[in-house]
Amino acid sequence: MKTSIFTYTSKGLPVPAYEFHNGGPEVLILGGVHGDEVEGVIAAQELLKHFMTANPYKLNITLVPQFNLEGVIFKTRGNGNGVDLNRNLPTKDWSPEVKTPRYHPGPFAGSENENKGLIDYLEKKAPIFVLSLHSWHPILNVNGDCHKVAAILAEHTGYKIDDDIGYPTPGCLGTFSGLERHLPTLTYEIERGLSAEKIIEIHVPAILESLKALET
Ligand SMILES: [Zn+2]
Repeated sequence: MKTSIFTYTSKGLPVPAYEFHNGGPEVLILGGVHGDEVEGVIAAQELLKHFMTANPYKLNITLVPQFNLEGVIFKTRGNGNGVDLNRNLPTKDWSPEVKTPRYHPGPFAGSENENKGLIDYLEKKAPIFVLSLHSWHPILNVNGDCHKVAAILAEHTGYKIDDDIGYPTPGCLGTFSGLERHLPTLTYEIERGLSAEKIIEIHVPAILESLKALET
């Protein structure tokens, strides 16, 4: 395992990335893009535990369990500037409109340090798959061709696969990486409020199994 600083938060905290290189294509796993969605952070941290023991995949996995570290610390959706990082990426549909403060897109597209680090990583590494762990209503939101992985996740969880989350999400990662850069991206919405035990019992094994589909 190699530890690196993926980016810095708006207030200057380092955001660690854990890299598990095993001689294969690059895969990015993010937890905690929304700091108040603890279910995704629990899943990401549990994955870290597994990968620390062994990376059994022919993949180079980069894992960032707490991407929005300030949000995780303060249990807020937004970062330390109150910006929703999943509405702040410089997509073609980015909009400065503040619908509600919870979904603040930032002063300009790509304004936030966390996203600068993410954009830089995506440009340099061009991962073949991006998994972003959130919580809401159960759904596997796919952007780009990641249906093989999604099918395995659906089989293990009973979650529905959908390429449309059902409402506009300007400046989101699925559009930025999955649609506009052709880096297949899956936004995994774990059921909000699910216990840590259930996340570890159901979702973590599902993710571990689904990663096998990326090796070929
Ligand atoms: Zn979210």
